[in-house]
Amino acid sequence: MTQKPLPEGLHRDTLAVHAAIEKSQYGENSEALYLTSSFVQPNAETAARRFAMEEDGFTYTRVGNPTVSSMELRLAALEGTEAAIATSSGMAAILLLGMGLLRAGDHVVCSQSVFGSTIRLFAGEFSKFGISTTFVSQTDVSEWAAAMRPNTKLLFAETPTNPLTDICDIQALADLAHNAGAHLAVDNCFCSPALQQPKRFGADFIIHSGTKYLDGQGRVMAGAICCSRKHVDDLFLPITRTAGMVLSPFNAWVVLKGMETLGIRMQAQSERALALAQWLEQHPAVQRVYYPGLPSHPQHALAMRQQAASGRGLGAAVVSFDVRGVDPVTLRRNAFAAIDAVRVCSITTNLGDAKTTISHPASTSHGRLTEDQRSAAGIGQGLIRLAVGLEYIEDLKTDLALGLDHLA
Ligand SMILES: *Cc1c(COP(=O)(O)O)cnc(C)c1O
Repeated sequence: MTQKPLPEGLHRDTLAVHAAIEKSQYGENSEALYLTSSFVQPNAETAARRFAMEEDGFTYTRVGNPTVSSMELRLAALEGTEAAIATSSGMAAILLLGMGLLRAGDHVVCSQSVFGSTIRLFAGEFSKFGISTTFVSQTDVSEWAAAMRPNTKLLFAETPTNPLTDICDIQALADLAHNAGAHLAVDNCFCSPALQQPKRFGADFIIHSGTKYLDGQGRVMAGAICCSRKHVDDLFLPITRTAGMVLSPFNAWVVLKGMETLGIRMQAQSERALALAQWLEQHPAVQRVYYPGLPSHPQHALAMRQQAASGRGLGAAVVSFDVRGVDPVTLRRNAFAAIDAVRVCSITTNLGDAKTTISHPASTSHGRLTEDQRSAAGIGQGLIRLAVGLEYIEDLKTDLALGLDHLA
């Protein structure tokens, strides 16, 4: 169907609803789901040109699919990058980043506070292929600078981090990378482009786990890298079409539709998270609250500046807190008691869902670390993480009070 192109300069909230490839000849208003593995060619000559990449046109879903293209186009529009490339999961996006950018002998500098599987991917899997990684403090830029080597090709950060919500200065890291001829990648999973657009601060690659807020209802796995068109075409597409860590069209469609409500969800979930963080800070059973939207957060000002893409400066939806206790055994018992008392929150480690999730990082997401590694990371036995969803705020307070009031 011939349709008028979208006007220039539309707001992110409008693009979240409208950015997509052309409608089909049927003029569907909701984007179509092309659940097909291959595409019929008009004739052998056209097929030959398309397989040789001399002509646009879909051939096989490992190489490209219209629903996946719409999801990529919409996400790139939200992040403000030229292009995006979708992957089967967030971890597959980071794998693709490394495969596209790095060679044996290259060096990476990475925050020590990134997602646990990301640490294992760099420290374990990539090291098998001759790529070395130095892990540094999330917040101390001088540590990043000191770790740079002549062969450093990539700086990798995530902000805010899981579960302590530490913030890194994206602009400072981008400057450091670019002055050394390296690139900066930022995992933007926690804020999503509704709250933070790392490209504005100089990030070259923005990583997404679409599994989280982009889907928004905890249904599918998905991932993506947002970057320049040239990087997608030259570095990443040749790998996905060969190695095959592509996103299923069905999952792409779920995420595509999820992004339509991203802005209002991030707003509503951030507001609930702030209200809950303020309430927790006053609770006698709570030792400390970690939330970038609170003035007590060590990088509150930086977080509000970086997380201002919404125009509102929101703290995002993950809140962590320490319950009180005198020693690790008591702390763990108190944290477990607080978690086990809930009736509304789900005891699970996923985040980005409309349902609030509650978890104990020291025994789950960070359970494979030693006690020493955990205390270096600031993750004590009394720490509880909440990924706040869309429930009525008073119901969430009542739910958490079930356990906390007994500890007070
Ligand atoms: C979940 C997550 C990932 C990995 O994404 P998957 O889709 O689970 O593979 C990467 N980074 C962050 C910050 C995450 O929370």
